[in-house]
Amino acid sequence: MFNSLFKIVYFVEFLLISVVRKAGTAKYRELKTILDRKTLIDIVFLALNGIGMLIPIVYVFSSVLDFANYYLPNWIGWVGVILFGFAIWLLWRTHVDLGKNWTPILAIRDGHKLVTEGVFKYIRHPMYASHILWAIAQALILHNWIAGYSFLVFCVPQYLLRVNSEEDMMLEQFGEEYREYMQRTGRIIPRL
Ligand code: SAH
Repeated sequence: MFNSLFKIVYFVEFLLISVVRKAGTAKYRELKTILDRKTLIDIVFLALNGIGMLIPIVYVFSSVLDFANYYLPNWIGWVGVILFGFAIWLLWRTHVDLGKNWTPILAIRDGHKLVTEGVFKYIRHPMYASHILWAIAQALILHNWIAGYSFLVFCVPQYLLRVNSEEDMMLEQFGEEYREYMQRTGRIIPRL
């Protein structure tokens, strides 16, 4: 019974975060790209992340993955629901703060501004933090070895592969300003 309730709650939160993403990324093509750092491996991981986000939808609407269910107490599911809510909020705030400076692949846009306020005041990668929180929440809400972990297994490696190149790119573009910004912020956990 709780299993189907968690499926419904997960799907509602998934819809909410999809709306936030759609609204946040709708206008990004308006600016021209002046520096492009895309790599094949990053694009492959973007696609894998997409699959990892969609596997739970198969789980919600069919029983094909039910063979991989396992037991966890319900309160863990509710912790996941709250965590997912926080991830939705964080993604929303990040898109508001980043505005047109968002890019799906590593790139610098024409007129790119360094954002250091809002949620960026505390961490340099709030969007990646939000994705990792979402992926952890997915595992806590969906007690299934495949649908629970399908996003986490891709989004953590992608973060680890991408974060150094992104910071190198930002240093190249913004120099001392970004170096100072790095000193007062954490990557995905605020600096004390
Ligand atoms: N890593 C950030 C942004 C993800 S989107 C986060 O997790 O929130 C990736 C793009 O954002 C990069 O290509 C870069 O152009 C841009 N970006 C990253 N940090 C930025 C910042 N502080 N200000 C402006 N643009 C930034």
